[in-house]
Amino acid sequence: MTEYRAPIQDMKFVINELAGLNDVIALPGYEEMTPDLAEAVLDEAAKFASEVLAPLNKPGDEHGASLDRNGVIAAEGYSAAYRQFVDNGWSALSGDPEYGGQGLPGLVAAATSEMWNSANMAFALCPMLTAGAMEAINAHASDELKAAYLPRLISGEWTGTMNLTEPQAGSDLATTRTRAVPDGDHYRIHGQKIFITWGDHDMTENVVHLVLARLPDAPEGTRGISLFLVPKFLVNADGTAGARNDVTCASIEHKLGIHASPTCVMAFGEKDGAIGYLVGQPNRGLAHMFTMMNEARQKVGIQGLGIAERAYQAARDYAKERVQGRPVGHKGTERLAIIHHPDVRRMLLTMKSQIEAMRAFAYVLAADVDRAHRHPDAVERQRRQARVDLLTPVLKGWCTELGVELASTGVQVHGGMGFIEETGAAQFLRDARIATIYEGTTGIQAADLVGRKLAGDNGAAMKALIGQMRDAETRLSTANGGEFPAIRAHLAAAIDALEQATAWLLDVIRTEPASAMAASVTYMMLTGYVCGGWQMARAALVAHGGPVWDGDDEFRRAKIITARFYAEQILPKAGALLSVVKSGASHAATLRDEDF
Ligand SMILES: Cc1cc2nc3c(=O)[nH]c(=O)nc-3n(C[C@H](O)[C@H](O)[C@H](O)COP(=O)(O)OP(=O)(O)OC[C@H]3O[C@@H](n4cnc5c(N)ncnc54)[C@H](O)[C@@H]3O)c2cc1C
Repeated sequence: MTEYRAPIQDMKFVINELAGLNDVIALPGYEEMTPDLAEAVLDEAAKFASEVLAPLNKPGDEHGASLDRNGVIAAEGYSAAYRQFVDNGWSALSGDPEYGGQGLPGLVAAATSEMWNSANMAFALCPMLTAGAMEAINAHASDELKAAYLPRLISGEWTGTMNLTEPQAGSDLATTRTRAVPDGDHYRIHGQKIFITWGDHDMTENVVHLVLARLPDAPEGTRGISLFLVPKFLVNADGTAGARNDVTCASIEHKLGIHASPTCVMAFGEKDGAIGYLVGQPNRGLAHMFTMMNEARQKVGIQGLGIAERAYQAARDYAKERVQGRPVGHKGTERLAIIHHPDVRRMLLTMKSQIEAMRAFAYVLAADVDRAHRHPDAVERQRRQARVDLLTPVLKGWCTELGVELASTGVQVHGGMGFIEETGAAQFLRDARIATIYEGTTGIQAADLVGRKLAGDNGAAMKALIGQMRDAETRLSTANGGEFPAIRAHLAAAIDALEQATAWLLDVIRTEPASAMAASVTYMMLTGYVCGGWQMARAALVAHGGPVWDGDDEFRRAKIITARFYAEQILPKAGALLSVVKSGASHAATLRDEDF
């Protein structure tokens, strides 16, 4: 199995040149951050990812987590790696400095998150969910709860989870049944949650669960759900972990991938009721949980990117070693490595170009999140937030769907050896598969994009985005060079397709909502491809001779060729997807259930 090396040059290029690190670190609150510090953080993270996390990926897949009568035991080596992760300060990276965090920009954390996920997606889930829990507590919990829990979550001494799903309540959380009964200054929680990631483990002394449950007098549906903090061990007055709470892991799932990430069935209140504390307002739990889910959705999008990058590295390295056949046009008599076959090069460039597009898209959006939180100008904050709201489902949906597709392409590059576990290519595909499902399936992301985001502001945020894409397209016409007319023509056509699809959807969403929903995933993918093309065009422009950037010539050359490949081979999908969107697929509703 090949090693993992963080694509540090491209990461730094995107962070500095496309996402605007210098502007981000000028935002209030990031005074401590400098470009050199950001660079040092990325270099250290790259080392940690390749030296500590990546070597555990395959053994973790083979042996997984296990359960005994005391609870879940993390896969071998994971506790030690987690300790190192915490000791090196990685868990505190973007945490609130008021509670011991380092308060680094989300832009930098996006890159470290990509590295953790490329190196070891199962491991990366644990700090990812902890970060989401911290976010929700910080935004909604009382000062008392914040003081008791945030410092230990930020330091990584304790980890956090997200407890939404129940057997009958998956995408539809309105049917949540877990109950919360008032009991003095706290609540008693009773119920069962399923599929809880890192719901229990022995890597830390405590696990802090954020749990959705209903109060006794709660109204039906999503407006009757509240959010509770339920620790595995209750917290003593001195802040240490004390008595065991009434919450246990009943079993762990056997699943397709991410074997080292324990997916737990959690039993709350099998004895007296698990002690829990209300977070935020009664009956506002789902809204509060969305703080955590939006952040988690962005991070799961980055998982798609991370796993695709890992699959690409393995495929590329294999293609350079595996000798098979004589490529067409090859003059010599010797057989060559498969990377010389035009179709293998197509597969590799299909992976590389879309990965670079995803990276640029994801990091630029992470910088938008930083600006939405911290920009001194309220109008600018609002503008950035509108962009983040619009594109979060696209980041989640498009990048995870591509993660699966590209991990599958990685298997194909390996030929038969890709199907054999030894090379690791199969694990990447198995691991990638979950990312389109949890944190809201692709269908749910698309419904959010079309039903809430697009319809919510009558397309205003999308129109602003398209306007910015047009600016980039115009700038392409000023660049000299063989690649640019082709990039510009394809980008222009793709933007037209996005604009027409948007207009069509805004037209039908109110009159024929079923048609709009039938087209929603197609539209989401179209949006993703065009956003990727926009960012690749920006990247090509900088590489072509941006005044600020002094990157090396080979990198520049490769970037421009990759951007052209994306424009010519990937962006034309936008036109085809537009036709699919406009067909509406409403006739699918006319097929009788029995005919499926
Ligand atoms: C490994 C793993 C880890 C997980 N970790 C966690 C965790 O930590 N915490 C947690 O709370 N949950 C977790 N989950 C649960 C996960 O979030 C749910 O599985 C997911 O939300 C989908 O719910 P479901 O499985 O009930 O599928 P369903 O909701 O039954 O969906 C089945 C299909 O129907 C489609 N569908 C359903 N409703 C709609 C709709 N309104 N519009 C369009 N399509 C729709 C879906 O897109 C999907 O294709 C995890 C799941 C797994 C497998």
